[in-house]
Amino acid sequence: MKQDIASDIDDAGSLLKYVQPAHPTTSMLEVFERFIGQENLYAIPVVEGETPIGLINRNKLVELFSKPFTRELYGRKPISDMMDARPIIVPVDESIDDLARIIIDAGMQYMYDGFILTRQSAYVGMGTGHDLLNAITERKQAHLYHLAHYDQLTGLPNRLLLLDRLTHACSQALRREKLVALLFIDLDRFKLVNDTHGHVVGDLLLKEIAGRLQACLRRNDTIGRLGGDEFTVILEDIPCVGVATRVAEKILQSLSQAMKIERHELFVSASIGIAIFPFGDDTGETLIKKADAAMYSAKQRGRNCVQFFSWEMSAAVFERQRIENSLRYALERDEFVIHYQPLVELGTGAVVGLEALLRWSHPEMGLVSPDVFIPVAEECGLIHEIGAQVLRIACRQNRVWQEAGLPPVKIAVNLSACQMAPGLPALVQSVLDQTGLEPRYLELELTENILLENVEESIAILHQLSDMGVKASIDDFGTGYSSLSYLQRLPISTLKIDRSFLKVIQSPEDDPTIVATIIAMAHSMKLDVIAEGLETRYQLELLQSHDCDYAQGYYFSRPCPADAVADLLRNRYVIAGNALRLERG
Ligand code: C2E
Ligand code: MG
Ligand code: MG
Repeated sequence: MKQDIASDIDDAGSLLKYVQPAHPTTSMLEVFERFIGQENLYAIPVVEGETPIGLINRNKLVELFSKPFTRELYGRKPISDMMDARPIIVPVDESIDDLARIIIDAGMQYMYDGFILTRQSAYVGMGTGHDLLNAITERKQAHLYHLAHYDQLTGLPNRLLLLDRLTHACSQALRREKLVALLFIDLDRFKLVNDTHGHVVGDLLLKEIAGRLQACLRRNDTIGRLGGDEFTVILEDIPCVGVATRVAEKILQSLSQAMKIERHELFVSASIGIAIFPFGDDTGETLIKKADAAMYSAKQRGRNCVQFFSWEMSAAVFERQRIENSLRYALERDEFVIHYQPLVELGTGAVVGLEALLRWSHPEMGLVSPDVFIPVAEECGLIHEIGAQVLRIACRQNRVWQEAGLPPVKIAVNLSACQMAPGLPALVQSVLDQTGLEPRYLELELTENILLENVEESIAILHQLSDMGVKASIDDFGTGYSSLSYLQRLPISTLKIDRSFLKVIQSPEDDPTIVATIIAMAHSMKLDVIAEGLETRYQLELLQSHDCDYAQGYYFSRPCPADAVADLLRNRYVIAGNALRLERG
């Protein structure tokens, strides 16, 4: 693995040079002559036995001998008479930082003299201040290089270094007639981990993932982190495209194993996009864009899978980018509208609730479906603001209808996974306070998967909401993975059967067993059942025959703007013969 962590020049021993020491009895003249013979000798240590006891500074001695009669007066005297008896002595394993501090504290003179190095108190050599300075500068440079080229959390190369490696890999591949594969790996719903467990756990998870990626690769493959939950892998010199697929599948497999982070056991999956060089005239940058587009398409195919780049994908990415960009302004420009779809009690035909469904009226793209922009808003984090806005408008609107004297109904608001966080009850409470809506007239819709992401926390949040008097229902039931036993633990009041179940029941030939079973099962758990997507008379009768409590669908009404709702609330549906009409309720 190319890791290039700054090469650490970390202890004093790295500066060690052996200098033949003098002894206390060595004569001054002898030492002076050694200095004269060796231009680059700045200092000579004095050692007694193995213990360093002093240091002779070149300049001091040379200066002394430049005076008249020094040779005669001092030449034979022992060097111990003029040595510096308090030199800096440090063990070889002293860190460079501590060594620098010792020298700075001792005074700059010692920078020139250098220092004596020992191992278990015995003399082993000398180091010079000059070399120390070099070491510090080199390390600083290495550190700066590291900061600029590596991701600080995982220690992996960042975008800059990755691009460099990629460009290099591409030119090598051309020469060797091999392929380069670039894998763009994006974790699925990583935001949720941060939102529900906090950033510390999120960071630890990213590190764990970096480790797992490394374990899947060869030594000379490069892994990089582009930021957030995006990783890339460069596979160099591969003989065929199949190798890239195999590596990508190995990565998905490895990531699918549970990750133990602190006391949590987390499950993650990833979507991987692959771009291959050389096809077309790619540069490193365009290759990253292609792999990114392929990754995005993997997400749309349901996540946790691998996709190769194709040209249609870049159009999709362009479109998504465009949506993300204009979403940022949509709130400011008031481009969101809420439509309301009635929820009808099948026994009486009364409208007992309304589901708030968000619509985005884009100045150029026209009405954009929530299925298109909600996922984008979730990914870029805008969903928090948008979601809070929907909640506020829907509650206020419901209150306005009540104040106008219309029969009170509950308003159902959809929540995204990232909204299912500890701050939710407080947000709901503040909206209720602001709008004056009684909690029993609000119902939150959550999908099974939202609740499954973090069961214990979801249960706690739902209990808080239920204590406040706010109901919750399970939306799109049957499309997720929840089990009955799990549902029983949740404080929910209603189950909404996903519309895909009704869609396949159009005539007596179609088997209604699944729908019938879900209704019976929900009733046995004391849950109300709403059927979604009711479109035909036949479906209505079928639901009635199986005691389904409520239904919602085009058969009664499409979602409609707020001002069209008053009529619906004032009336009830009457099914007479083959016709459906609204009658004064
Ligand atoms: P959902 O919550 O399951 O909403 C029901 C969807 O089914 C709505 O689609 C509605 O227009 C559609 N529908 C209702 N009756 C029929 C029918 O008889 N036949 C058919 N074919 N469709 C019917 P819509 O409005 O496009 O919303 C799609 C999804 O977007 C919603 O599914 C919901 O998950 C999400 N969504 C909508 N508004 C919001 C919001 O404010 N916040 C969040 N987080 N998600 C929202
Ligand atoms: Mg819904
Ligand atoms: Mg639904």
